[in-house]
Amino acid sequence: MIGIGLIGGSFAIDIKKHHSEAIIHGISRKEETLNKALALKLIDKKATLDDLVNADLVIVSIPVDATVKLLPIILDTISEKALVIDAGSTKEAICKAVEHHPKRRNFLACHPIAGTEKSGPKAAISGLYTGKTNIICEVEKTTFKLQEKALTLFTALGMRIRYMDAVSHDKHIAYVSHLSHISAFMLGKTVINKEKNERDIFDMAGSGFASTVRLAKSSPAMWTPIFKQNKENVIETLEEYINNLQHFKSLMEQDNFSEIFKEMESTNYIKEILNGIN
Ligand code: NAP
Repeated sequence: MIGIGLIGGSFAIDIKKHHSEAIIHGISRKEETLNKALALKLIDKKATLDDLVNADLVIVSIPVDATVKLLPIILDTISEKALVIDAGSTKEAICKAVEHHPKRRNFLACHPIAGTEKSGPKAAISGLYTGKTNIICEVEKTTFKLQEKALTLFTALGMRIRYMDAVSHDKHIAYVSHLSHISAFMLGKTVINKEKNERDIFDMAGSGFASTVRLAKSSPAMWTPIFKQNKENVIETLEEYINNLQHFKSLMEQDNFSEIFKEMESTNYIKEILNGIN
């Protein structure tokens, strides 16, 4: 397990549940993080990159810029039979980083659409992946045997699988995930800047504000590299979002409340789209 935060740690908990015989070795940048993961029993042993040669399965769940740098080194080090899975929230740069690697067929590019706004080993929870979608990109570039091995694991964890090319993944995920995070961060900023007294925010914030701004608690260390890698798609979504905000503002300025009603009514359709997700 390379990276034992929310995503890696949650994989570790559920892998242990289904495979009590598995010995999970943890690799991380900071000794302190490994100690926490050990204390929480997310991992059985601390390890280093040199130990990768002995691994059957390597799960990489570190920030996406670190994944791009480390993935070729991981593939250099593993045995011929090992499977390497990543969990990065972007896919194009990660797939490109290893496209010509001699062990490309040992790698499966994944993005589990599961998470919370929390981070680090303490954030790891059991059942995070149950009923969630795992997007697999460029599946044809992974050996069939290793695809099967990965699918057996994902199915045991209760995940649904969707296949997609990496470019489409990054384009779609910019709308449904990356834009939502920017929107939450900037909503949080707008309110904090206006309401300097945090106590007032706390007293007046209803559950609507809390649920809308929840994602603004997410880790900047994880999100900055995601926005950097998906810059063009994210800028495109932001342009559309800002246009919508500006349109809403001009309707307000024009006292055009019948149009505002219609704007909200047509967006209520989101209930049907999201039905079954939340
Ligand atoms: P996290 O809880 O912050 O854990 C990140 C882990 O990566 C930590 O163990 C950290 O260890 C290590 N790390 C941080 N910077 C590193 C670097 N530069 N080099 C090597 N290791 C580093 O993050 P997470 O939520 O688990 O996210 C991990 C991956 O999953 C990311 O690629 C993210 O895009 C993806 N993902 C996240 C979510 C979500 O909702 N959170 C959902 C799907 C996919 P140290 O403390 O030792 O630095």
